[in-house]
Amino acid sequence: MAFLSAGLAAGVAGRSRAATGLTLTEAQLQAGVAFLDRHPSVDIHAHPGRFFLRDIARTDASERLGAPAEAQALSDMAAGKVTAALFNCVSDASLLGFTPAGGLAPVRDFRPGEAWSEYRRQIALLKALVAKGDVVRALNRADVGAALKAHKTAAVFAVEGGDFIEDRMDRVHQAHADGVRAITIVHYHPNQIGDPQTEPPRTPGLTPTGKRIVREMNKVGIVVDLAHASFGVTKDAVAASDRPMMISHTNLKRADLDHPRLVSVEHARLVSHHGGVVGSVPSGIGQATVGDWIASILRLIDAVGVDHVAIGTDMDANYKPVFTDYGDWGVIPAALLARGLSEAETAKVMGGNFLRIFPG
Ligand SMILES: [Zn+2]
Ligand SMILES: [Zn+2]
Repeated sequence: MAFLSAGLAAGVAGRSRAATGLTLTEAQLQAGVAFLDRHPSVDIHAHPGRFFLRDIARTDASERLGAPAEAQALSDMAAGKVTAALFNCVSDASLLGFTPAGGLAPVRDFRPGEAWSEYRRQIALLKALVAKGDVVRALNRADVGAALKAHKTAAVFAVEGGDFIEDRMDRVHQAHADGVRAITIVHYHPNQIGDPQTEPPRTPGLTPTGKRIVREMNKVGIVVDLAHASFGVTKDAVAASDRPMMISHTNLKRADLDHPRLVSVEHARLVSHHGGVVGSVPSGIGQATVGDWIASILRLIDAVGVDHVAIGTDMDANYKPVFTDYGDWGVIPAALLARGLSEAETAKVMGGNFLRIFPG
């Protein structure tokens, strides 16, 4: 088995147990791997192989993130038994650069028509990945279940940044027709929908266009992702949306840790109390090891409940990740089971909670 030879031996467990911050026994690791044969697991926010950077005009950020490597990512996902991931296009990819502090930020604005043409370019890349047959497209829960049974990796198409919609509701419908099932409405570029967490606020919450977009996404069956969105946008989205939403990749602020990409317990509960899901990201913010990330996941479970937590790795556009190889995916359920979560609770976090809010 690829995972056992290449993943466990050379991956998190084998590389250096001390460096991972985990103290799992071989039996516990095997239990994590075996778990993935029984339950669908979903990475609710990812950019596998940085597909979206293929053929993009070079930017500072694209240089720092590295060249696309789709085939490697897909083979790692198969080896690690990842059932499905949200393969995210990045609306504002061509605008991004690194700030002196090391974070990402837009360094220019869109040219006329650019947001839409970038969307078309990146969606075409996703469709080409599916056409090659290395990954199957998942449009609904049943497709994810079928992928688990067939030992295939499923791609749920998604877009990080609702910039490409502009003020055109027909583009929400076009995205759905393209297979898009989640949109992170705000990314790094302050847009027509609202403000990101990482920029000074221009508006207190969702703009009128933003409200219309949230309702249109509800109507067509696209999950509203509030990762990167300001507290005000999140509050307004909860008021506007009649469907559960998600914050696909974040973690909680702590008394000793603050960062614009982290959220307060109050912020996370806006989404969980509305039936939604909060994904924990191995972002390296307040984390040095995989063990620190597992602690972030457990903290989220304590704050919002085990029915509302998921995994969102941001692979492979995470600029200082503490989890870097899908071949080690089994380590996550292994660690959760070892920390006392039941099999049913672990299944919720690994995929069940997302599948509950996944349309269809
Ligand atoms: Zn992100
Ligand atoms: Zn991302």
